[in-house]
Amino acid sequence: MDFIDLKSQYRALRREINTRIQAVLDHGQYILGPEVQEFEQRLAAYVNSAHCISVASGTEALLIALMALEIGPGDEVITSPFTFVATAEVIALVGAKPVFVDVEPDTGNMDAALLDAAITTRTKAIMPVSLYGQPADMDEISGIAARRGDIAVIEDAAQSLGATYQGRKSGALSGVGCTSFFPSKPLGCYGDGGAIFTDDAALAQACAEIRVHGQSARYYHTRIGVGGRMDTLQCAILLAKLGRFDWEVARRIELGNKYTAAIRASGARAQPLTVRPGRTSVWAQYTVLVDDRDAVQEGLKKAGIPTAVHYPRPLHRQPAYEKLCDAKALPVSELLASQVISLPMSADLSETQLELVVAALARATA
Ligand SMILES: *Cc1c(COP(=O)(O)O)cnc(C)c1O
Repeated sequence: MDFIDLKSQYRALRREINTRIQAVLDHGQYILGPEVQEFEQRLAAYVNSAHCISVASGTEALLIALMALEIGPGDEVITSPFTFVATAEVIALVGAKPVFVDVEPDTGNMDAALLDAAITTRTKAIMPVSLYGQPADMDEISGIAARRGDIAVIEDAAQSLGATYQGRKSGALSGVGCTSFFPSKPLGCYGDGGAIFTDDAALAQACAEIRVHGQSARYYHTRIGVGGRMDTLQCAILLAKLGRFDWEVARRIELGNKYTAAIRASGARAQPLTVRPGRTSVWAQYTVLVDDRDAVQEGLKKAGIPTAVHYPRPLHRQPAYEKLCDAKALPVSELLASQVISLPMSADLSETQLELVVAALARATA
């Protein structure tokens, strides 16, 4: 069994993907070719955002968003310590200070009730992460940001493309949204890729310029930028994959519900996460909480079930970040980091496989 089954997906889409790749090879516009714009338009329509700027990766999307918002030295950006390192990395890269706010014990998402106390006069942005595929409490967070002044809200939707919050799509839930097309994400390409969403035309223009070395016209540089474009080939691959994406999202939601029900029914000593009312999760990872995780992981491995840990150490306890932030105790993040284990998940996981995993989990936690 694969932890994430990308081969079945390719088999199902082989003809569409190969045709799209061949078209790029034939026209030869490998950088900012026609598929880039076509993909951006399709994706903007999909999440219902006025603008979509494709970029080289999810990390680059977050970095470019911060650069476009002119966040830098002396500024603070509030984020979650319980995330992939890129979320905080880009804050440090622009010279700002990451300020970590603890997370909810049953979702792993930023605890909006703790936000007010973390906001200072230096706070320029809040960057919630929609962890494991479930949107953070974006309206609550945007409401607090608006009440407390001119604070931007950037959703790190790297894991949650396709998920919804009150019927709206993740990525378009706040002033700026960023996503990733890393192969293992819900919408994955065959390399690196990412995108920025916003309804703000000026911000979109700034992101588009920063993506190409801050250039507003050929060899005319109005701002400091990066080399951050997404390849035409990757956009072409995702255009083919979009044809199946609605089915995949529905299937992921269904499998997530099945996992939760089956784990509860099995008597496994594993606690599924909660999906809050009014939201869906696309389960980029199907993650549960267990005691004695190392033993459970070993037991599952012996049963031939691959697992992963997202994430074993919160960022305020990472050597590179503990000196940047105030490194105070964030007990929920620390507890979750010691208990989380992610089970095999992809739209092509079969029900039989899911039942095998749950049975093995029940044995490993017995
Ligand atoms: C994957 C991920 C990123 C970074 O995306 P890349 O495309 O790998 O650069 C950022 N934030 C979160 C929460 C992620 O899961």
